[in-house]
Amino acid sequence: MPRKPPVADPAYDQLRVDPPESWAAGLPGVTSAMSYALGELGPRRALTLLSRMNQKDGFDCMSCAWPDPDHRTRAEFCENGARAVTWEATTLTVPTSFWASHSLTDLASRSEYWLGQQGRLVEPVHKAAGSDHYEPISWVEPFRLVASRLRALESPDQAAFYTSGRAANETAFVYQLFVRAFGTNNLPDCSNMCHESTGTAMLETLGVGKSTIAYDDFATSDLIIVMGQNPGTNHPRMLGALEDAKRNGAAIVAVNPLPEAGLRRFKNPKTVRGLVGRGTDLADQFLQIRSGGDMALLQWISRRVLQAEDAHPGTVLDHEFLAEHTDGLAQFRAHLALFDEDAALTATGLAREEMDELADRYLSADRVIVTWAMGITQHRKGVDTIKEIVNLLLLRGNIGRPGAGASPIRGHSNVQGDRTMGIWERPPAAFLDALADEFSFEPPRRHGFDSVQAIEAMQRGEIKVWFALGGNLVAAISDTAAAEEAMRGTDLTVQVSTKLNRSHVVTGAEALILPTLGRTDVDLQASGAQFVSVEDSVCAVHATHGAVPPVSDNLLSEVSIVTRLARAVLGDDGPIDWAGFEHDYDTIRESISRVVPGFEDFNRLIRRKGGFVLPNGPRDSRTFATSTGRARITVNELVPVECPDGRLILQTIRSHDQFNTTTYSLNDRYRGIHGGRDVVFVNPSDLVDLGLSDGSRVDVVSEWPGEPDRVLRNQRVVAYPTSRGCAAAYFPEANVLVSLSSTALGSNTPVSKAVIVRLEPAAPPTAP
Ligand code: SF4
Repeated sequence: MPRKPPVADPAYDQLRVDPPESWAAGLPGVTSAMSYALGELGPRRALTLLSRMNQKDGFDCMSCAWPDPDHRTRAEFCENGARAVTWEATTLTVPTSFWASHSLTDLASRSEYWLGQQGRLVEPVHKAAGSDHYEPISWVEPFRLVASRLRALESPDQAAFYTSGRAANETAFVYQLFVRAFGTNNLPDCSNMCHESTGTAMLETLGVGKSTIAYDDFATSDLIIVMGQNPGTNHPRMLGALEDAKRNGAAIVAVNPLPEAGLRRFKNPKTVRGLVGRGTDLADQFLQIRSGGDMALLQWISRRVLQAEDAHPGTVLDHEFLAEHTDGLAQFRAHLALFDEDAALTATGLAREEMDELADRYLSADRVIVTWAMGITQHRKGVDTIKEIVNLLLLRGNIGRPGAGASPIRGHSNVQGDRTMGIWERPPAAFLDALADEFSFEPPRRHGFDSVQAIEAMQRGEIKVWFALGGNLVAAISDTAAAEEAMRGTDLTVQVSTKLNRSHVVTGAEALILPTLGRTDVDLQASGAQFVSVEDSVCAVHATHGAVPPVSDNLLSEVSIVTRLARAVLGDDGPIDWAGFEHDYDTIRESISRVVPGFEDFNRLIRRKGGFVLPNGPRDSRTFATSTGRARITVNELVPVECPDGRLILQTIRSHDQFNTTTYSLNDRYRGIHGGRDVVFVNPSDLVDLGLSDGSRVDVVSEWPGEPDRVLRNQRVVAYPTSRGCAAAYFPEANVLVSLSSTALGSNTPVSKAVIVRLEPAAPPTAP
């Protein structure tokens, strides 16, 4: 019998703060995950699902994009993966009566956590303009309605079509095809807010916007530098790969403003020493860097490498590789000759000895991998910082050989695949040409809006219709108040979703929610059960098969929703066989094999156990599809984060029991937080300087030039070992502090890791 959904939103008066943990996973990870899964799914459903998860003939975890090892274990999942599956596969459903008893005004007062606990969506619902309630409708209605609204637009560019990284390859391909056949490139997606800085930097310098390593390279590396990433929570199975690397003699260096448990020690629950012993120490060196100081650190090490070369010419740099495969070394040398070490010491907040120790580790390592995530990409200079990662790796030829390379780790299961399938507001001409050849229509060439630009276009009244394939943009994006106001200014919002979230509550004048199948659900079409595919962080593409019957017969797959909408909007007499696509997904893959490079013979390759790995020039053959045909060593100006006295540099973070904007519980056990999320983490010495103390209540106020202050109210101060001058608070709540104008140069990714804030005693709560 499924549990009852919570009626009231949990009050945060049960908040408990314990000292942070010094290790990750272990028995608590197992018990926490299993009690959640068994409690929510029951033993049989939990066993069926967890035993099929990430298996070669099973389904792919819908959470992060950590790759699967070729040799899968019986329990090929982590605690947060088990949570993600349990959250999606609950048998609790939102009853029809829910919509009558909960107005949007009521739902707007509910937390993300409460909304997500209401169960799976199982019927399409419509909110008419002027109404404060959703009402259930049949499946015929939404397609007719959306089609009439889209056709009534003066231009296709008055609509925008968002994609969350959960969409599978086949879905993403037909979706972008529909949107382009409709006539726009307004295809914002969640990677605009996460690894867009990565794509921008790597495409320019290496000719590929993805990892240049294979899974097995982790085990053969000598040095793995983990920058701006918290794998213990956001990519937990990575801890297993780091443990294997250590066992093979690798050194690990972690660079992060927060001493995250998962960077320090791993108790692998698949081993005895992990279950009952001490586990494995991970970081050999932990650099507690000042937020935004990574670029200065990277330039410091590159400078040390060049100095070592000058001291022993011909023995340090990989001259053969540099001469044959790169350009820009001379300009880089000249630039770093003027390097200001004092500025770097200030920017990093690190000691000279610490940075030199890392430089020595780099110089003594033959094969080096650098991994990174949001702590690097969500900065004003995020793009240039990633270019400096590439610079450092190129100096000693750490690209395109075993155990070495650049490896951004993606946070959403198929965010990389979606981009590969054409979900991009700035599509390459070659992709559009291939689309035109395959489908005999001329796709739009004018670039569309990314996520931030889409909100800005809404503010200007240019976007009338917002269609979202999954996701929760109003919560995920920066400047919550402005984003919500913009979204409410549209005429129609449509959300294709499995469960409730804030984006169902903050709507246009008219709104639709279209319930869809999840990754765990069997997808039956006229030609039989269908499978879809995903691409992980190291460019491996594999199939994912639903494992359990859907919780309701009234659900449509994302492919069905997109293809039926396309037929309603574009008709059935065009060059694209939408019905055929829905009938049998092999036909979608046939077209993908002719349009997307690397997917030739897709239908045969995807049926291989474990799938296949996409070609990758830098990894496979040290070929670089850049503007010069060579790997580019670039010159980047160091601009440290300026933080006035009495202010702090705040970063937004996830709790351990959270995936993107989805909150599984109100706990963050690694950081010692239980039963609440209204906390701000501050270094004890900063608290003394600010005249504040652990436990006091503050308003967190952010400052952005030329704009009014933004406030996150009534947060409990937690004295926490952050780096000096740096603070942290959970998103999506803290997104209210980030100006929409505060974005990374070159990628337009919101700068959520360096928000200048002041802490003020909490203002007394205003009467409701
Ligand atoms: S590491 Fe990521 S992909 Fe793997 S099970 Fe955990 S959450 Fe899922």
